[in-house]
Amino acid sequence: MPHILVVGSLAYDDVQTPFERRRDVLGGAASYFSLAARLYAPVRLVGVIGDDFRDDDVERFRTAGIDISGIERRSGRSFRWLGRYDYDFATAETINTDLGVFGDWRPRVPEAFADSEFVFLANIDPEIQLEVLSQVREPVAVALDTMNYWIENRRSALDEVLRKVDVVSVNEAEVRQLADTHNVLKAAREILARGPRAVIVKRAEHGAQLFMEDRSFWAPAYPLEEVRDPTGAGDAFAGGFIGHLARTGKADDATLRRAVLHGTVCASYAVETFSVDGMERATLPGVDGRIRVLEALVAP
Ligand code: AMP
Repeated sequence: MPHILVVGSLAYDDVQTPFERRRDVLGGAASYFSLAARLYAPVRLVGVIGDDFRDDDVERFRTAGIDISGIERRSGRSFRWLGRYDYDFATAETINTDLGVFGDWRPRVPEAFADSEFVFLANIDPEIQLEVLSQVREPVAVALDTMNYWIENRRSALDEVLRKVDVVSVNEAEVRQLADTHNVLKAAREILARGPRAVIVKRAEHGAQLFMEDRSFWAPAYPLEEVRDPTGAGDAFAGGFIGHLARTGKADDATLRRAVLHGTVCASYAVETFSVDGMERATLPGVDGRIRVLEALVAP
């Protein structure tokens, strides 16, 4: 079975929605991603934590079968993010980011992880994404996430990493910003021309679109009556997406399209609870049941 490597943040989040607030809950892009992807294939996690990171939380990854030998513990504070959602639950407003030990961290991919076939470069400085890529040998597929800050401040490194990855996974605002184009279709086309084989545009409750050279594919979001915390939806999506590729060992166009359904379903587990709890409780039979619901949504 191929292996999945993820490099990204491990965090404590403080999340506010119009209805609830939770402080100090386990978050971070790599947490959401790995708890989704481990449903599909063995996951290797590379991240950094401070001395305040609870052993119990590290244990949650281990219990989920994730290889945590790439987690580095450093003296200092763990990454902390304080975010707030408006009534539409669409995009998070970042109130505060405290980078802590994540700030000057240069990830080192353990030698035993260098043969990973599927790689997710979670949201981090694109210079670091490039360094990570230089430490893996011959991946079958690499996917990348990013955010507005890097698009504004690290353009040339981001352009370079874009040339080296297969899949770019971003939200609507980011795809527009990345291509400097308002129309999402044109923006995706523009990014495809820079190197990646596929661009995924996540549109929250409206679903996700996958753009490839000669075809696009649109999956509706999984219908949920209660969304409690949208945090981590994008990373859980990436976990289901890459997870499906790893489980099948393929990255052809048809597999990429089906992987969008897995991403969509994993995102639904992430958002129906605060923190990673929903993702942690998810099972593969549960995922498959939700995939059938999704398919029925668009079958005439
Ligand atoms: P998502 O909602 O999929 O964009 O992911 C949100 C998660 O990413 C939260 O759990 C945060 O801890 C983490 N996060 C927020 N800002 C950053 C950042 N600047 N760099 C890395 N991770 C972040």
